[in-house]
Amino acid sequence: MPEILEPFPEIRELGADRLRQICDEWCRGPVASEFGIVGINVSPDCTKLGPILQLSASNYNRGDQVHFPVDRIVNYIIDQTFPEAEGAILKARLSDLRKKAGPFVFQRFVVSIDAFNMATRCPSCSHGLISQHRIFRGQQFNVDPMDPIACPRCGSEFTPQSKDFFPVMGLPGE
Ligand SMILES: [Zn+2]
Repeated sequence: MPEILEPFPEIRELGADRLRQICDEWCRGPVASEFGIVGINVSPDCTKLGPILQLSASNYNRGDQVHFPVDRIVNYIIDQTFPEAEGAILKARLSDLRKKAGPFVFQRFVVSIDAFNMATRCPSCSHGLISQHRIFRGQQFNVDPMDPIACPRCGSEFTPQSKDFFPVMGLPGE
């Protein structure tokens, strides 16, 4: 299986900057939010597109299949860039590839990056508490202002800020 844009030299010729611009526009649309995609990485050689997923209390684990509608993004790039006749040829090529590779290659994306639970500690007794917030490796963690939490061990109340959280492997409650 080639990288998604390998069979499309016409699209790669647009260059990584232009492709990022078009992907950014797509990410502001309804399909992106439906799939929880907040950004798209374009590889410098313009062969690969990879999703940047929403940072929130998500349930994704390493190896989970995440829907990434890559063919819809490629169609969008074609619509934004090429005259209708040329675009129709590119779309036919995309559709042929999808038939050969099967729909899953183009519509699903396996998360191969590590996901972590964010944990915090009680400032009074250092008891560790695992939150429902999850983060992918390399992403910055920012939590909305929180209500105070009562420590289940010593009972003291505290209000953790983003900087008080640290990543741990494993699921809540484990
Ligand atoms: Zn405590």
